[in-house]
Amino acid sequence: MRNLKADVVRKAALLNGWDQVLRNLCPEISTKAFDKPGKHVACPVHGKSTRSGDGFRFLNKKVPFRDSGGAVCNTCGIFADGFALLMWLKGINFADAVAMVGAECNIRTTDDENAQERINKESQAKLAERKRAFEEKERAENVYLRGRLNQIWSETFALTHPIAEPGRLYLASRKILCWDKQGAERAVRFHPSLASYNEDGQFEGDYPAIVAKVSKQGRPITLHRYFLTEKGMKAPVESCKKMCAYPSDVVVTGGGIFVQQPVGWVEDVCEGLETAWAIETGMDLVITVVPTVNATLLESFEPGPQTKLVRIWADKDKSGRGEQAALELKKRLWEKGIQAQILLPPLPIAEGEKSVDWNDVLIQLGRMGFPKGKRAVA
Ligand SMILES: [Zn+2]
Repeated sequence: MRNLKADVVRKAALLNGWDQVLRNLCPEISTKAFDKPGKHVACPVHGKSTRSGDGFRFLNKKVPFRDSGGAVCNTCGIFADGFALLMWLKGINFADAVAMVGAECNIRTTDDENAQERINKESQAKLAERKRAFEEKERAENVYLRGRLNQIWSETFALTHPIAEPGRLYLASRKILCWDKQGAERAVRFHPSLASYNEDGQFEGDYPAIVAKVSKQGRPITLHRYFLTEKGMKAPVESCKKMCAYPSDVVVTGGGIFVQQPVGWVEDVCEGLETAWAIETGMDLVITVVPTVNATLLESFEPGPQTKLVRIWADKDKSGRGEQAALELKKRLWEKGIQAQILLPPLPIAEGEKSVDWNDVLIQLGRMGFPKGKRAVA
């Protein structure tokens, strides 16, 4: 039935659990997303993105997925609740989404609706208890995650330490020479044997790793890891670059790997750590580049209070994602009255490759590939 009371249906979905309702209504969404809310799966609308993997997941922080039915796709946008999700996924309007959820919760007539309204009233205490239990569980989880992040960091060594040879071998293979720069050990370190788990939580082995601290306004948020072999090659795991899970009461947007807080009026920023250090190497170590880890975080980069110009050293991707993120950041900065300049690698994307970045420029062209005039500015 159309024109059901949205509020009655929403509470019915809450009582049944949005997870159950949507599992039945949305066979186009991978069951893996339902089995582990928060896990990334292929987007049911646009499919798999070409570079950063699967971009779709259910929202499960602050409010559990079961209570909201919300989801996000890095490309398609945020859907705050189950109705918004259905409208987007099925291409229907709000009234149809309400009718669809209503039918799933056995609300098809006005009598059903009245009966449900009574049930909703009687269930308030039960829902409050469910909310309290979730918040308690989340608090405990946050304590655990903080402890784990501190534990990993406490087990790391400076990249200059003899034990960090695999880390130095890897960076040397990327022609990066600035791993011993002053202060680097505050943000980028080496772990001799770190456990790697894949997206499904399966253990893949213990490997040496470069560990980088992702922070925001001086406050540590999480750790980014580069899993390696003893010989400094990329570790044979599903994904050798991984961000650690972090507490739900902090946000990573606006974060980056800061070796030092910005000092001058010019800031340099890029996506990856290797890219940042490759640019510093190519520019004779006269500039400091802040890596933001990925394209999404590059978009949300927050410049320091004295910054007047941001140079964005973009990645060139076949998907266009790197340039899109750089343009997005440039637009945001201009709106704040801060100048921004995008620097693209002066190389074409090689046959069979997905992207080219400034680390490739350093490897293929050496210092000659870097803009000379820029050295003077910094
Ligand atoms: Zn999508």
